[in-house]
This record gives sequence, structure tokens and C-alpha cells, in this order.
Amino acid sequence: MAVEAVADREMFIDGGPVPALGGQWIDVLNPATGEILARVPAGGVDDVDRAVRAGRAAFRDRRWRGKPPSERAGILSKLADLIEANAEDIAHTETLQTGSAYKLRRDSDLPFSIDNLRFFAGQARHLEGKAAAEYSGSHTSMVRREPIGVIGQIAPWNYPFWMAIWKVGPALAAGNSVILKPASATPLTAIRLAELAHEAGLPDGVLNVVTGRGEIVGAAIAAHPDIDMVSLTGDSATGRQIQELAARNLKRVHLELGGKAPFVVFDDADLEAAARGATAGALINGGQDCTAATRLYVHGPVHDRLLARLQELFEGVRVGDPFDPATDMGSLISQAQVERVEGFVERSRQAGARIVTGGARAIVPAFEHGAFYRPTLVADVAQDSDIVCNEVFGPVLAVLPFDTDDEAIEKANDTRYGLASSVWTKDVYRAMRAAKELNFGHVLVNDHLMVASEMPHGGFRQSGFGKDMSSYSFEEYTQVKHVMIELTGQPEKPWHYTIFGDKPAR
Ligand code: NAD
Repeated sequence: MAVEAVADREMFIDGGPVPALGGQWIDVLNPATGEILARVPAGGVDDVDRAVRAGRAAFRDRRWRGKPPSERAGILSKLADLIEANAEDIAHTETLQTGSAYKLRRDSDLPFSIDNLRFFAGQARHLEGKAAAEYSGSHTSMVRREPIGVIGQIAPWNYPFWMAIWKVGPALAAGNSVILKPASATPLTAIRLAELAHEAGLPDGVLNVVTGRGEIVGAAIAAHPDIDMVSLTGDSATGRQIQELAARNLKRVHLELGGKAPFVVFDDADLEAAARGATAGALINGGQDCTAATRLYVHGPVHDRLLARLQELFEGVRVGDPFDPATDMGSLISQAQVERVEGFVERSRQAGARIVTGGARAIVPAFEHGAFYRPTLVADVAQDSDIVCNEVFGPVLAVLPFDTDDEAIEKANDTRYGLASSVWTKDVYRAMRAAKELNFGHVLVNDHLMVASEMPHGGFRQSGFGKDMSSYSFEEYTQVKHVMIELTGQPEKPWHYTIFGDKPAR
């Protein structure tokens, strides 16, 4: 597929494209070539304000939440169909702005995004709560599940379109208005999403996309007094800043943050399955994945065998032109990200680690300015080392041995993150014990990375709180109201004497 430039794109507010009020633009780069791909408006506080006014008006006028759930579901299903019809085009743009392999975008991100959205279309019709009943004895109580209002959603650059769907899907299904801020490096497919939503029949003002820098647009969303909830998928440090800003008007906060997933291989595991799972798990999207396998703990007796097989598999991964069908791994998101990865690997080398393979930039002919890094395996590292404790967000896997099951679980849990983890064994007792004791929001047995639209995704500890996907994420974007209807019609209630009068004689 040809790599041609994408035209400049305006942001999307109140049903149409608009430039920034300040007239400024920012460049969007193709990280595989280093070339400028497009420009998008550099939004400011005023642009956020304009989007909030549009979202608030749509909410107030019940343009979207006032529609019956079946109608909302129909429009979201139509949006999913439009995304499907434009999937190759969206995957193409996604590849241009991220530099990652086209096959990943086309065959993973897009099909999952479409399935997630279809799930949320159905979820719009499925409101859950307690049964109505006379819990007090003299009133009928019932629960209403209602949208929250105007939701600010801040998305990352690693899976720009897919993460936007995780945010927008449940928020819209629940009837909210949305202000979506894509990462400044990858805004193009979020703008496309808003256009397609408009085409599907979403009323004006319900989905607004404001482009621009995180410290400006993201911070303005987090601090805005008329936004009722803010949801971020991003770095833990950004999550802390957003939570502080959101405290100003006590808005609800939903945070999907970083990860440092352990990958635990016991001595009875299928080693070939584990080696393949770890290679895919560590190198998916160049390792720029919050659930990527980053710390592989392997039982001492099988350590060397697994490491040797991992080396073979890592060295077989083809790094190159993202659009070449023979490419497994494209570029990282930026030169800055490559420098970050280099820093981690160099510091571990200086601390005595063994770089089993990789540990350097990848040279890709005709892509000299691209942000490519080689799949990297690091051994002989300490549990408390930088590369084992902190999120690298690159194609790097650290391998550490363990002697006992207890030690494996303890080391896996020895992190401030708590997003994803996996355990590899054929022993059901080991698997069940690990599933119970691993302190992560997602535990996989004999696989890594897999998710399902019907099941929740979200972290423990500094990986954040709140769930994406599933009915749990739909609930995040609703609030529960208790309605109580008095049934006796008596003006004088038995408890009124506690405020006035004497206790009635029995
Ligand atoms: P990031 O935190 O740098 O940026 C995320 C978003 O926040 C971007 O839109 C950015 O513009 C915005 N932002 C940055 N600074 C801000 C500020 N001060 N105020 C408000 N908004 C601000 O993260 P990233 O580098 O784009 O994405 C990678 C991170 O996302 C990794 O830590 C990864 O683990 C995490 N992630 C988590 C999940 C999950 O489901 N838990 C999924 C994908 C990525």
C-alpha cells in the first residue's frame, strides 16, 4: 500500500469540523519516516469551553439521552458498520500516525474496535439494578440508571482508535455527551471516528473531538467546572495530575494507567507455548502496550531452555516498513520513545545485565529517520532494578529465574502496578492459586494479552481504577438514582413524632 500524505484535519465540535480559536496548528509525524503527515488544530482552553457548551446543550436538550435505548443502539450499530466499511482506510491512517505494523491495525485493532462497539450498542438496552419492591414496607423503591452528563475522555497514542472506542463506546451507550481528546501524536483516527458517528446519525454536540497538547487541552478538560467526569487512558503520572485537577469540582475520575505485567512460567508449562506467548506478549505493538509481558519469571530448571528459545523467536521477528506484509514490528511512536528505551537498556547493561539479543536501534533500509528498535531480551537483572520496576513501553523483555512457587508469586506481585499478568502451567492447582493470589486486574492462564468485549479490563493499585469494556464499564458512565414512592397516602406517618409530637400509644 502506498504511503501518501494525509490532508490537514480540523477538530470536530458540535457536528462539524472547526479550526482552533487561537488559529494555531500542530504537526502530526509519521514516526516510521520522520516526515510530517498532517497538521491538526492546537486546541486551547477556549476550544474545550466551546466543546463543553456543545456537549452540555446536547445533554440538556436530551438530543441523545432522550432517545429510546433501541434507537441509541441502532445508531451505535450503524457506526460499527461504517467503521467496518472503512476499516482498511482507518487502519492505514493509524499505521501512518503510529508507525506500527499495518497488519496489527487491520487485523487486530479494527476488528476488536468493531466488536467492542457492537457490544456497547447492545448494552445501551441493558440497564441493571435491584428489583423494585416495598423495602420500607410503605413505599415502592426503584432504581433508575442514568447518564452522568458531559464526560471528558483523554486517550493515549499506543492504540489511538481502539482506545477511543473503549472510552466513547460505553459513554455514548449510556446517553452521555463526550469531549474526546486524542493524544497529540495520534489525533487523525479520532477525528475520523467523530465524522463517522455524525454520518451514523449521532446528534450534533454529543461527540466532540478537541485536538491539542495534553498539558493544555487535557488539563483544561480535567479542570473544567462543567465536565462531570474525566476518564484517562495514559501514564500513571498523568493520572495523578488529572486526579488533582478533577478534585476542583469533585468530578468523577476513571483511570486506566500504566502496567508492568509479569509472565510466570512454572516447570510443568508447555515451554513452546510459553515462549511463543512471551514473544507475542512482549513485542506486540513494539511493546507499547499497557498489558505487554515485561517481566518473565521462569522456574530455575527450565530457565536456560526457555531463554534459548526466546532468543530464537525474538531474532525471527522482522522489523521494518510498517506497510510491508512481511513486517512483524514497525517503528516505535517517536525518536523520544526510542531514546527512552535505549536509556533503560543502557542503564541495565551498566548494572551488569546480559543483553541476550537486541539492545540497539534497528536499521531499516530506506527508513533512516524512523524510530525503530530491535526486539530485546535482557537477563541477569535484579528484581529491584530500573528495568524490572518501571514501565519501559518498548520491545524489551526482562527474564528472571525463581526457585519456588511462593517466590514466583511474591516477585510477580512486587510492583506498584496492577494491570495484567499471566501464569503458565498445566497444573490446575497452581493455576487456580495464581489466579487467586496475583494482585492484578487481569490474570491469564496459558495465554497473554487476550481480552473480550464482555469482560472487564482495568487495573489495581497505580494502574488506576474503573473498568473498560463489559457491563462494568457501562456502569462507570451511569449513575444510580433511587426513586421512592409513598403508598399509604396518610399525611401523618408513624415516625413523625421524632420531629414533632409525642410517641403514639400502641
Ligand atoms: P500519556 O499519559 O503521556 O498521555 C495520555 C493522554 O493524556 C494524551 O492524550 C495526552 O495528551 C494527555 N496528557 C498528557 N499530559 C497531560 C496533562 N498534564 N493533563 C491532561 N492530559 C494530559 O500516555 P501515553 O504516553 O499517550 O500512553 C502510554 C501510557 O498509557 C502508558 O503508561 C500505558 O501503560 C498507558 N495505557 C494504559 C492502558 C490501560 O488500559 N490501562 C491502555 C493503553 C495505554
